[in-house]
Amino acid sequence: MKIETISLHTKVIPLKKPFKTALRTVTSIENVFVFLKLENGIVGIGSAAPTVAITGDSTEGIKDIIKNVLAPLLVNKDIHNLNFLLTAMQNACIGNTSAKAAVEIALYDSYSKLLGLPLYALLGGKKTLLENDMTVSVDSAESMANEAKKLVSKGFSILKIKVGKNGEKDIERILAVRKAVGPSVSLRIDANQGWTAKEAVKIIQSLERQQANLKLVEQPVNASDIEGLKFIKEHVFTPIMADESLFSPQDAICLLENKAVDFLNIKLMKAGGIRNALTIASIAQSYNIECMVGSMMEASISVVAAAHVAASHPNITMIDLDAPLWLEDLTVDHHILKEKIILSEDSGIGISHNSLSLSV
Ligand code: MG
Repeated sequence: MKIETISLHTKVIPLKKPFKTALRTVTSIENVFVFLKLENGIVGIGSAAPTVAITGDSTEGIKDIIKNVLAPLLVNKDIHNLNFLLTAMQNACIGNTSAKAAVEIALYDSYSKLLGLPLYALLGGKKTLLENDMTVSVDSAESMANEAKKLVSKGFSILKIKVGKNGEKDIERILAVRKAVGPSVSLRIDANQGWTAKEAVKIIQSLERQQANLKLVEQPVNASDIEGLKFIKEHVFTPIMADESLFSPQDAICLLENKAVDFLNIKLMKAGGIRNALTIASIAQSYNIECMVGSMMEASISVVAAAHVAASHPNITMIDLDAPLWLEDLTVDHHILKEKIILSEDSGIGISHNSLSLSV
């Protein structure tokens, strides 16, 4: 079954409210959508989220690399050779992980639609209810506490708290949130590279003394500071998770060989797609390190694809896939049910290209 055409569309999607981290403030996102059409008319869809601050991938860069490098490798090729196509695509250029992820999602979507299976089933997983978290943007301690309380009243029992802007204030922010939500809510902290290693140890030890009871602290230091991650891990009890330090399977091996972290946060846009994401989860499994699947601020298609990945690997035990809840994007909201993500039994990722207000 040959791949007939690959076409691209971009769409700007506004956010319901600004999303603020130590790295950036986002008020709208532009995503690149990939429509991959097989010769029998089946259309697989994928999407990429440009995040120049994290992956270096821009909208124009993603479009250019798909149009001129990745698509020419795939058009007129047989989709049944999926693994060989994925390898050829990954080897076609360095980096460009967001473009590769979008095309991979479209390849897997069309292939599983062709076989009449939901993607999680094709990957050997099971339909399952995945418990999602919701993010609280970095802000004043008072407004973060109020926001956290509101989210818990809406049914969320796992919150991701964005910090990394002024260590002393971060302690205040986290303690205010803990006080507001009570002891039973699970708190994941994300500093988005905002601290130094010594500062992180001081902050986390202080939070431990004050019984903040944190599930994990994500990416406390700069992405390249593997020594720093290791230093922090050795000096605190709270589990440390790598996010921006982890793109590829090779990065995973480096982090794990160095015993630098307790958890890995895998994202399709960093890994370059579904196959590398699963490879990272398997590598981590052999080191007894559990993984989370997260996302950038992305449209629903790639986030739902990430949920299929999470449902298919036993070493992915956490998800952080709240991005669609931030978006004024109603196209596929029936898949995203607040604190639970329910995967569709429809084939592929469970989203028809007809439901998107984009033409092939
Ligand atoms: Mg993160």
